[in-house]
Amino acid sequence: MRRHEVEAYTRGFVRERINMPAIRLDPATGRKLFDTRAAKSTDRITGKGYSIVTDERLTALPELPPGAVFNAEEQAKYREFKEIRRGAADYMAMEGEFAKYLEDVYSAPPIPREALTDECDVLVIGAGFAGLLLWHKLQSAGFSDVRFCEKGGDVGGTWYWNRYPGIACDVEAYSYLPLLEEMGYIPSMKFASGFEILEYCQRMAEKFGFYEHCLFHTTVEKTEWDESAGRWTVSTNRGDRVRARFVILANGILTSPKLARIDGMERFRGDAFHTSRWNYNIDLTGKTVGIIGTGATAVQVIPEIAKIVKELFVFQRTPSSIDVRDQRATTQEEYNTWPNERGWARARRARFSKISAGRTAIKANDDYLAGKVPDFKERKQHERELSMEELLDKQLDSNFRIMEQIRARVDAIVKDPKTAAALKPYYPYGCKRPTFHDEFLPTFNLPHVHLVDTAPMGVRQIDERGVVHDGVEYPLDVLIYATGFQWMATSTFNMIAGRDGRTLKEKWESEGTKTFLGLHSHGFPNLFIVSGPQGGGGSFNFTDAIDAHADYIVWMLETMRDRGVRVVDIHRQPEIEYAEHCRKVDIASAPLRDCLSYYNGHGDAEPGSLAYYGGNRWHKYRIEAQRTLAPYVFGDRS
Ligand SMILES: Cc1cc2nc3c(=O)[nH]c(=O)nc-3n(C[C@H](O)[C@H](O)[C@H](O)COP(=O)(O)OP(=O)(O)OC[C@H]3O[C@@H](n4cnc5c(N)ncnc54)[C@H](O)[C@@H]3O)c2cc1C
Repeated sequence: MRRHEVEAYTRGFVRERINMPAIRLDPATGRKLFDTRAAKSTDRITGKGYSIVTDERLTALPELPPGAVFNAEEQAKYREFKEIRRGAADYMAMEGEFAKYLEDVYSAPPIPREALTDECDVLVIGAGFAGLLLWHKLQSAGFSDVRFCEKGGDVGGTWYWNRYPGIACDVEAYSYLPLLEEMGYIPSMKFASGFEILEYCQRMAEKFGFYEHCLFHTTVEKTEWDESAGRWTVSTNRGDRVRARFVILANGILTSPKLARIDGMERFRGDAFHTSRWNYNIDLTGKTVGIIGTGATAVQVIPEIAKIVKELFVFQRTPSSIDVRDQRATTQEEYNTWPNERGWARARRARFSKISAGRTAIKANDDYLAGKVPDFKERKQHERELSMEELLDKQLDSNFRIMEQIRARVDAIVKDPKTAAALKPYYPYGCKRPTFHDEFLPTFNLPHVHLVDTAPMGVRQIDERGVVHDGVEYPLDVLIYATGFQWMATSTFNMIAGRDGRTLKEKWESEGTKTFLGLHSHGFPNLFIVSGPQGGGGSFNFTDAIDAHADYIVWMLETMRDRGVRVVDIHRQPEIEYAEHCRKVDIASAPLRDCLSYYNGHGDAEPGSLAYYGGNRWHKYRIEAQRTLAPYVFGDRS
């Protein structure tokens, strides 16, 4: 956005702020309170998520093709699909001239404020779901000297940064949005739009007094442990050097956008942006637009922008699985009954988490989730307990059948056979992030929408006018990078130096990722990592992991308060054992993820170094640790 536009838009807002300093003292506690929330950069940022589609041919999967068996021939096809793409994923950091793709386009410039060189009890990095939930729980447990640093200009995290047309959650909103009962809120749609979720985050922040505790437009750059003081020193891009007894990394799993490395990107003369910084000042109406990528974001974006652009070129390397969405509005009955059912949202989320098979979990059976029927499927009785291998084979077979239906759906909807063939994915269901849409496939029947199949290596060249593929130039007015995010790169979000000055990145690079429960790492006392590597991510609903992690952190702080100790670290051995456990479950369940995707570092991640696939065993480790306290080294009685 042009500077003068920002200034014009925010003039009114600034006038309102004149007598409101960015930092003031709370007369009751003497602590600093903040007012650093930025104004919205432009009113053009609005949108919707999934539409309700009434055509039943689009909202149901076709019958399973007869004779669908995951036999040797099909397995070979899957392997080939994967192998020809190996090495194609080549991403680069958004630095230098590409740093412009990271700019915050959603908010007015940062509120000026002095740099802070003071102290707080708990410093949390990030103001997404995790930050908001932590604040609610910490405050309820009596921890009020809590400060948040957030890179963006407002709360929301994922839902602040991602505001592309068509954005919505893929886990049903009734189970995904935190604190629904505490807020007295019921989402308007089963799969709420990202715009509704962002507004909900802002409501949470307002209701729970979060804004006064958060420094927005403040990026933590360095977090260093001071052994003699028993505190962290946290340095930010605003010149702050804040000392905190505890630091909580709530900086998310899909926070850092990435760009594919493509020859000539810097030469493109049209407008370009990444989907996680959607530029609403660029009007796409009547333009020729190209989009690189067909992952979960692109699947939501494409049907929406196809409605307004003149010509749309979709550059695809690997097709996504496009499952049915079957969006619906919240019913009147739900609006009427839920507020009277104490614990409805928590119970629903708990039921949701019991559904383990990918597709069932995400489509989610409403009667079961509402507690009207005892189970979501008929259970088969086996004569004996099945081995891990047998269970895996059954899951692979079932995944194959889902994928056969997903492929049959492409044929049933997409008219051009060449386009349909290119849109069919060959990998186990859930291996790449599953996607859901009832308008995506029909979009390719529109005469102005063109799929450019760039398999297996993806787009390799861009020039001043547009994308070049297979010797054909596609001139574009606007180029959109839907190239996704770094996954679980917690150790690299800011430089975290623990005991002996060694950084978390150095530790994990030399020893492999080592944590206890994904939450602690030996040598980094009083540091907690929310939903980082080994901590979660094997579950469909991230709010589950965030909720469990926040509860654990509050429990630890209460335990320390009760015992009168000020420092907690983890013994070395428990994290070695836990990392080995993560490695084993990752290897054992790897056939379910036998494709190249960000979940497995595009095939390069060490087993056990990213998401955790151990399900309830995480809770077993946690409960045992909380019972015995054996893994912890407590120090420095106050
Ligand atoms: C488009 C999209 C759709 C998704 N849909 C679903 C879904 O349907 N279901 C589901 O379970 N999950 C979904 N996810 C995953 C989603 O990220 C999590 O569900 C959840 O929102 C994460 O919350 P969080 O607070 O942990 O992290 P985030 O929401 O990522 O928030 C982290 C915050 O930390 C800030 N930050 C990072 N580094 C720094 C730093 N150094 N200094 C200061 N601030 C920093 C970031 O700016 C960000 O605001 C989706 C993700 C994306 C990208």
